[in-house]
Amino acid sequence: MTHKVVLASNNPGKLREIAQILADLDIEVVPQSAFGVGEVAETGLTFVENALIKARHAAEVTRLPAIADDSGIEVDALDGRPGIYSARYAGPEASDEDNNAKLLRELEGVPEDRRTARYQAVIVYLRHARDPTPILCTGSWEGRILTAPRGRHGFGYDPLFWVPTHGCASAELDPAEKNRISHRAQALACLKAELEKRRARGRD
Ligand code: IMP
Repeated sequence: MTHKVVLASNNPGKLREIAQILADLDIEVVPQSAFGVGEVAETGLTFVENALIKARHAAEVTRLPAIADDSGIEVDALDGRPGIYSARYAGPEASDEDNNAKLLRELEGVPEDRRTARYQAVIVYLRHARDPTPILCTGSWEGRILTAPRGRHGFGYDPLFWVPTHGCASAELDPAEKNRISHRAQALACLKAELEKRRARGRD
């Protein structure tokens, strides 16, 4: 039997990625827009809090189990900024270019060895809005902030994110390779494993 789960995001890229991974578990992932669920204010101070706020809202409105993710980039020389504010670093309506330009400005003069950074991703799963034991999965991907953009794939900070294991920017990686190793891929693999464990124990 297929189980429906609502995804607290309207991003088609995320939907595709999450739906593919969970299809093996007979889970049908439906975007919250299909139920008319609107966006909720991300008022938390951590990725975990914001993911829980989004999932709880979607579960409350739809009465279905819910999945939400939250992600961003953490730069050591900036004490972890932009962090949870990655999407709105240069302002509420900021484009990827605006955010990247601000990041380069903030890091002006910072030498290569102090430009360390990592992408962080959190994915949560709630069986219902008042679920006291949510599944919490995290992933992180280490790199460094370049001094100028490179590459044309990906989105967000990918043109500025140097991937030492591959010797290129993440915007220069083949998208399939990025989806294999990224922070989100790690968190998703964890979610799949945790849902499999619950199923083996006879819980949903
Ligand atoms: P959200 O999780 O959709 O709220 O995304 C947060 C923000 O973090 C995005 O708008 C990007 O700026 C940044 N971000 C998260 N993951 C990635 C990634 O894989 N590549 C580039 N930027 C990312």
